[in-house]
Amino acid sequence: MSLILTLNAGSSSIKFALYEKTLKGDPPLIVRGKVERIGTAARLVVNDSDGKRMIDISASNHREALNAILEELKDDTKGRTVAGVGHRIVHGGPDFSAPVRISEANLEAIRALSPLAPLHQPHNVSAIEAALAEFPKAMQVGIFGTAFHAGKPFTQDAYGIPRRYYEAGVRRYGFHGLSYTYIAERLEARYPALYSGRVIVAHLGNGASMCAMKGGQSIATTMGFSALDGLCMGTRPGQLDPGVLLYLLDNEGMTSAEVSKMLYKESGLKGLSENTNDMRVLLESSDVKDKEAVAYFTARIQREIGSLTAALGGLDGIVFTGGIGENSAEIRAGIANGMGWIGLELNEAANEAGGPVIGSGAVQALVIPTNEELVMARAVVERL
Ligand code: AMP
Repeated sequence: MSLILTLNAGSSSIKFALYEKTLKGDPPLIVRGKVERIGTAARLVVNDSDGKRMIDISASNHREALNAILEELKDDTKGRTVAGVGHRIVHGGPDFSAPVRISEANLEAIRALSPLAPLHQPHNVSAIEAALAEFPKAMQVGIFGTAFHAGKPFTQDAYGIPRRYYEAGVRRYGFHGLSYTYIAERLEARYPALYSGRVIVAHLGNGASMCAMKGGQSIATTMGFSALDGLCMGTRPGQLDPGVLLYLLDNEGMTSAEVSKMLYKESGLKGLSENTNDMRVLLESSDVKDKEAVAYFTARIQREIGSLTAALGGLDGIVFTGGIGENSAEIRAGIANGMGWIGLELNEAANEAGGPVIGSGAVQALVIPTNEELVMARAVVERL
């Protein structure tokens, strides 16, 4: 049997997964892992049937990181064909609303979207180039983080600025689309009534966003033109008055590069706590700033639940996913705390046990672990 490889290149990491290509059903996973801290103290984390291993490596750029991944996969790929490679691509712009086979023209179009996601898109492009060189005969497929939100109504897609900017592509694209695709598929398969109803999916990880979903369609989402908007994240601020940016540029004398660094790397939980973006560490801390950072994170989610509920015209269920959403009963309880008015109440024991069904109020609450790699592998299999 041939193989499917998925690659998910971030600013300093590449996640990978290797699947067996089967004729029917979901492709079985062989191994998954990531190279993290590319450019600094890089290491390879591998998760396979032998468990989890961490190996210090040298990788000063994404190409070297991919080489390390391919070296690690050598035993699994030996004598077998990699038939397809799936690439997570952060930005699909206004035009890519479904996965595409990567042709020269598509690659050029993906490259041209780099100004919309300058910290991520170039790495996605270099992963495609590296995979094309390594597996010239394999089908390369691009799966876009923005595509799930492509059908949103104009009112949830536009900003209230002169119309020409909308036409030029300044829109509320939204992100985390692979995760939302997976959750929508799980809801359809396991909770069909909820799938057809009004659901908020809370993808809470180091990056965090929420999506208002009806019948598997995105109606509205908390992220916008960039992955900075909406919820408080590990190192990104979430909702921010644009006047703050003008103030920083005009009065604090910051350059746009400095503002960008602050917004992407120094804000959110890390900025507020002046400690860390790691939620586990913050939850165990008794430091006042750490506690305030967690409280801010929770309060922003609560406000956005209200906002997305208005966009949906009511709420039937909420799904928690992502590293924090899947693993932290404390954060889920903190979000539900005081939201009985909207019908959100948790069964304490079920929440502590991690679900999947944790709600006890009129609004159903679920914990569903996401699986973005499987969404990519499926997209490749469908096109082979
Ligand atoms: P992700 O980006 O989806 O991998 O999520 C990473 C975030 O999940 C980090 O802030 C982790 O601290 C957080 N996380 C993972 N496990 C737990 C846990 N058991 N409790 C609280 N936070 C967690």
